[in-house]
Amino acid sequence: MVPKPRVRFAPSPTGELHVGNARTALFNWMFARHHGGDFVLRIEDTDESRSALAYQVNLIDDLKWLGMDWDEGPQKEGAYGPYKQSERLNIYEDHLKRLITAGLVYPCYCTEEELEEERQALILSKRMPRYMGKCRNLTPAERKSREARGRKPSYRFKVPQLTVEFDDLIRGAMKFEGEAIGDFIIVRSNGMPAYNFAVVIDDHLMAITHVIRGEDHLSNTAPQIMLYRAFGFEPPTFAHHSLILGKDRSKLSKRHGSVSVGEFRKQGILPEALMNYLGLLGSSFTEGREILSSDEMIADFSLERASKSGAIFDEEKLRWLNAIYIRNCETEDLTKRLFPFLQQAGYQPDTLDTQWLRNVIDTVKNDLTKLTDIGGHIRFFFDEQYELTDAAKQILAGENARKVVRAFGEYLVSAQGMPKDLYAGAIKYAKEKTGVKGKELFMPIRAALTGEVHGPELDRVFAVLGKESAAKRLQWYKD
Ligand code: GLU
Repeated sequence: MVPKPRVRFAPSPTGELHVGNARTALFNWMFARHHGGDFVLRIEDTDESRSALAYQVNLIDDLKWLGMDWDEGPQKEGAYGPYKQSERLNIYEDHLKRLITAGLVYPCYCTEEELEEERQALILSKRMPRYMGKCRNLTPAERKSREARGRKPSYRFKVPQLTVEFDDLIRGAMKFEGEAIGDFIIVRSNGMPAYNFAVVIDDHLMAITHVIRGEDHLSNTAPQIMLYRAFGFEPPTFAHHSLILGKDRSKLSKRHGSVSVGEFRKQGILPEALMNYLGLLGSSFTEGREILSSDEMIADFSLERASKSGAIFDEEKLRWLNAIYIRNCETEDLTKRLFPFLQQAGYQPDTLDTQWLRNVIDTVKNDLTKLTDIGGHIRFFFDEQYELTDAAKQILAGENARKVVRAFGEYLVSAQGMPKDLYAGAIKYAKEKTGVKGKELFMPIRAALTGEVHGPELDRVFAVLGKESAAKRLQWYKD
């Protein structure tokens, strides 16, 4: 048991929330909730050219939609705020001064072009591209002259030639050689802190105990640990989970299809299904369970069970899970959730009788894979949209088919009763009168009642349609 951990999700608001990032958030959230710790949301928006407020708003909205809550962060100020890096610039400045005073950093005046030239030369000579320390030993006079030429320095950290070792909770013992790491920038020439610098200061000041993030940040961990040491801070425990991959085993990206939470949300994937799916990806639960609520995932969560190898994103499996969640969703709740999708499909759900609409949804919900499917499944319940498909016309073209439908209609016109009894009576009557049974009996009735050849159980459809609507649809077969 971990004593009250503090973890954080630290997204950069530079785009839509990618499912990979949502999964990182989920791991942190489940870890915090499982151990009774705190989950902090921190917005890393110091890259001014790429960050946008709209993305930040969107990100917060998507996290809430997924059902994740944070103990501290935007909209939930706590003792360690502010939680947006752009509001913490004075803190980074103070920390830069500390390192300057300690003689652990130096100003670098290299231009982009000079850096690129160095990079290319290293690649050509088959050496690892990194900063070779051109500005490390400039004399005060040399610095002055560069500044006189109007060059604004960035600040680089003097990387010690030491081996950095740490124990990763998922990947085990890790080792990085300081030699392979060039002096890295901690503050850019525009005065903004670089990611590795800000993240160390924030994780320390926010008392983060565990840093759980994607393995694409594994190589950042050594520079970060060097900074922890430079400041005399205790580093947190690190856990780098595998990334989500596409079917071709490359990092999941747009060319594989939908990749953002927003896209799945628009398609009508339920947040519970997406959470469940992301929880399953690259980790496992007791006895191979696959359908778990958030609470169940939290109770059973263990970082140690997270797999080291990448997890393949399988949209088909997500849709399979979604269909299960739709089926298990209370009809009343599902109907509410379907409102925007019904509107999108051209319906005006608020003008419909609530109970009738619930009955409609209840009848078709087993057939939905996504909420956006709804339009195509309920058309035939609306008299004004009733129309025979070609396949239905074909079924109804047969001599027996017409006889069956006529008999079914005949019974309806004369009989009274509850829809369930009426339906059973009409089927029995049609069967006895025509001698037709099985598929040949039911298919024409389905085709005539719904205009389609597939759909939910016919008795349920009939019950929702009601006698009047059903009779109207059958009157055409009277002669
Ligand atoms: N802002 C970084 C990102 O979005 C955070 C990485 C980290 O968790 O340290 O990738």
